[in-house]
Amino acid sequence: MCGIAPSLLEADYRQLGRELLRIERAGAEYVHLDIMDGNFVPNLSFGIKMIRGLRDSTNLIFDVHMMVCEPIRFIPQLKEAGADHVTVHIEACEQVRETLEEIRYCGMKAGIALNPESDEGMLTKEVLQAADIVHVMTVYPGREGEMFIPASLKKIRNIRKMLEDYRMEKPIETDGNIGFDNVEEVVDAGADIIVSGKALFHGNLEKNIQRMREMVQHGRKR
Ligand code: ZN
Repeated sequence: MCGIAPSLLEADYRQLGRELLRIERAGAEYVHLDIMDGNFVPNLSFGIKMIRGLRDSTNLIFDVHMMVCEPIRFIPQLKEAGADHVTVHIEACEQVRETLEEIRYCGMKAGIALNPESDEGMLTKEVLQAADIVHVMTVYPGREGEMFIPASLKKIRNIRKMLEDYRMEKPIETDGNIGFDNVEEVVDAGADIIVSGKALFHGNLEKNIQRMREMVQHGRKR
């Protein structure tokens, strides 16, 4: 499981169906959908009904990122709306393991996300066992124009090492202000799935997606 996940948050909202087609044709594996509740993060985005509305317009894997308090409340609805991956925050769940298990029980892949201030030590073996994807936030989530946090690279490396030590093969997904200037470093540190927004949607989307995919694949071979 590796590749890039363009974030629909940065797409042209006047023509989302067309944007999804362009993402798919350019060869991206996933589309990243950020759901914000104005509580866990200081912003709002879109909701489950929009995911359901977009589902029929593409075969892309729907990579849903729940920046929402107690996301366990919405998991069956996300499945019904057509989500494939559901990532929840360790900081947002009273019962992390149960939440991840519920996602799997509903037939989706479960992601566990860490905010920049959360230490990777919060990822216990039990939590990692219940997750299919480890998601590292490389900015403070839910705010506009945040800078990439360089300390994230060390965190990605540490998580990669933890997974190796536990002999667990799970992709690491990274999310937050990743563009052409830093994607190689992020892949070098051990990331498999790259969420990217502005860098892809600014200019020619297809060319940007192809260029970033090549950089990710090249980086992984090294
Ligand atoms: Zn996200």
